[in-house]
Amino acid sequence: MSLDAVLSRIDTDLPEALDRLLELLRIPSISTDPAYKAECAKAADWLVEYLKSLGFEAASRPTPGHPMVVAHGGKGDKHLLFYGHYDVQPVDPLNLWDRNPFDPEIQDTAAGKVIRARGASDDKGQLMTFLEACRAWKAIHGTLPGKLTIFLEGEEESGSPSLIPFMQENAAELKADIALICDTGLFDDNTPAITTMLRGLLGEELTIHAANKDLHSGSYGGAAANPIKILSKILGNMTDATGRIVIPNFYDGVTELPDNIRAQWQSLAFDHAKFLGDVGLSIPIGEQDRTPLEMLWSRPTAEINGMWGGYTGDGFKTVLPAQAHAKVSFRLVGDQDADAIRKSFRTWVEAQLPADCRVEWKGHGAGGASVMSIEDPAFEAARLALGQEWGKPAAYIGCGGSIPIAGYFKTYLDMDAMLIGFGRDNDQIHSPNEKYDLECFHKGIRSWARILAKLT
Ligand SMILES: [Zn+2]
Repeated sequence: MSLDAVLSRIDTDLPEALDRLLELLRIPSISTDPAYKAECAKAADWLVEYLKSLGFEAASRPTPGHPMVVAHGGKGDKHLLFYGHYDVQPVDPLNLWDRNPFDPEIQDTAAGKVIRARGASDDKGQLMTFLEACRAWKAIHGTLPGKLTIFLEGEEESGSPSLIPFMQENAAELKADIALICDTGLFDDNTPAITTMLRGLLGEELTIHAANKDLHSGSYGGAAANPIKILSKILGNMTDATGRIVIPNFYDGVTELPDNIRAQWQSLAFDHAKFLGDVGLSIPIGEQDRTPLEMLWSRPTAEINGMWGGYTGDGFKTVLPAQAHAKVSFRLVGDQDADAIRKSFRTWVEAQLPADCRVEWKGHGAGGASVMSIEDPAFEAARLALGQEWGKPAAYIGCGGSIPIAGYFKTYLDMDAMLIGFGRDNDQIHSPNEKYDLECFHKGIRSWARILAKLT
């Protein structure tokens, strides 16, 4: 069978694949630090040469920041776009690394062989799993595994300032049937996963103004409004005793989990006692009729991230402050409309203020959740392929945080994205001594070969 030939080619070529990855890891492409601008360009050029060697038409495309690598190749009915990023996080504090972060090494550890370097997991090692699968395919079949566009960014670790304009300017060129993103992780050490739900985020900052100046609590206390009390009372009541958020219309657009996804999540071995125990807690605090995984992945939140006002220095001051401040954020799910929630939250706060107080608002970023429709048969095909490689069915999972790129593909290119990654929780991405397990690199390449065989 030809897939078997590709898989055994991947196995025999693994030492060379590793050498190629190590070469890429030696380029210190730190995107946030202008001192490394030339190194970012070098990493982009390295990838362009790599892609050309596979028969792609590839180019490093300038942006106001670091270049994008765009490549096209292959033929087929289904057009796939693959996204990864070649830039890496800074390496400080350098003294906590056990070696030069850009002098990669294969190390033997108690848990198996690891590739130790900045970017080993996030995201050079991961993006190379896809490219190496293409390489093995080409070696066996003489062609690429279908119609492919490769899109590699160099600013992911520094806020992606050029990404949206580039997508807008090149929308027709980048548009494909589905996007594949390799920048996430396995569900647990050996359970592969496809992330299909990412929560959105809305930020608000507010100041409550009461008296026109700070007052003495002896002279005015009992008669004059205290804005810290008002603010803490309002925000403290955002959630009721059952964990439900009481802001009017807040749950508009929150969708219930499809039964098959709920069943899958229930079958996942998620140890919430350990999850909370690791941070010194034991009681899940969300809506009491929800499982902890639902609280994290498919339910919205309202959180106070900071609150200040009055006297907080050493000693004591009997002040009635004139103002109180807070930063509040909401994680959003389903079709919740960030702008509508901002409005509703503001109206709800304002309605509770005494008539002689006022509130001043500062809005922070707003972005809705991304929920992939798994109706496209590509999702189920990829899930089966992953299960075959890892010997365990792959799970459709959510992600409590936000991965903006998935939403951008939807918004600007009108395509769904499949987030499939082979990172492990202990990869120490963004931290000293980042590593990528050799097993993940190897099985990652094999997984993509299996997925491509089904999708193209
Ligand atoms: Zn990344």
